[in-house]
Amino acid sequence: MDDTIRRIAALKKDKNAIILAHTYTRPEVQDIADVVGDSFELAVRAADSAAEIIVLAGVRFMGETAAILTPGRTVLLPVADAGCPLADMITPEQVRQLKAQYPGAAVACYVNSSVEVKALSDVCVTSSSAVRIVRNLPAKQVIFVPDRNLGSWVAEQVPEKDIILHSGFCPVHHKVSPEDVRKVKARHPGAVVLMHPECMKETRAEADHILSTGGMVALVKEKKHERYIVVTESGITHTLRRHDPAAEFIDLSNPTMYCQNMKKITIETILRSLDEGGTAVTVASDIAEKARYALSRMLELNR
Ligand code: SF4
Repeated sequence: MDDTIRRIAALKKDKNAIILAHTYTRPEVQDIADVVGDSFELAVRAADSAAEIIVLAGVRFMGETAAILTPGRTVLLPVADAGCPLADMITPEQVRQLKAQYPGAAVACYVNSSVEVKALSDVCVTSSSAVRIVRNLPAKQVIFVPDRNLGSWVAEQVPEKDIILHSGFCPVHHKVSPEDVRKVKARHPGAVVLMHPECMKETRAEADHILSTGGMVALVKEKKHERYIVVTESGITHTLRRHDPAAEFIDLSNPTMYCQNMKKITIETILRSLDEGGTAVTVASDIAEKARYALSRMLELNR
């Protein structure tokens, strides 16, 4: 492993490359990354970076987002078939149908979506920015795609808007039941429950804080608590431990809290993509331009 890490460091230097890793990736992937963050942070850091090559240790929609925000540079996906089942739950045709059904509504699209769906949307959102962005949209009626759980969370926080939900869900978060959380709480009384808004509404009722992964990192950095129950993909416990090594992080020990697509990325696949050029993300320029509008509006409205 040490040799792999040394070769990655040398190739990064030679090729002016940067590695961006999502908080759901394997611990060893996070440890070699230049930036570890949620999808919003990775999108911003990709746009701000001066690197010629961006290795996106994450799933396909993250690579597409980085490619749209960094025209003229190369974005490499270490594993070509690392996709996101949530993103695959909505098609461009379904977005067109919703727009026809609700003329005048704005379309807010979670970044966990294809570039074609983004291109049909008025604005993109991430889990950390969705509430603020939907609140700041001029339209009263908002079509929110594709995650119905995040959408219902936003609807609770922004009651002045009329939110139309799509039926998508993240298989990792959607399967967690209130009972799963209650059992862990019973074993660890007093632990603070952090939960991602992609969990179902009835499960969210068991949380102390509903937060994006970036929000969880920010709260843990404050070092106000000693024990946390973390209800999101298992990879984040590694990220959180780095920010507060003294605290205890308890996950659900539930095999469903494991994103198989994120875990496809290993340091060996990162080395191969840097060494051999890997899978470069390409997006047709007309689609990229429209999707870039929705993404740049996300950055503007997140104030
Ligand atoms: S955790 Fe869920 S939303 Fe995130 S990449 Fe995996 S399947 Fe998609």
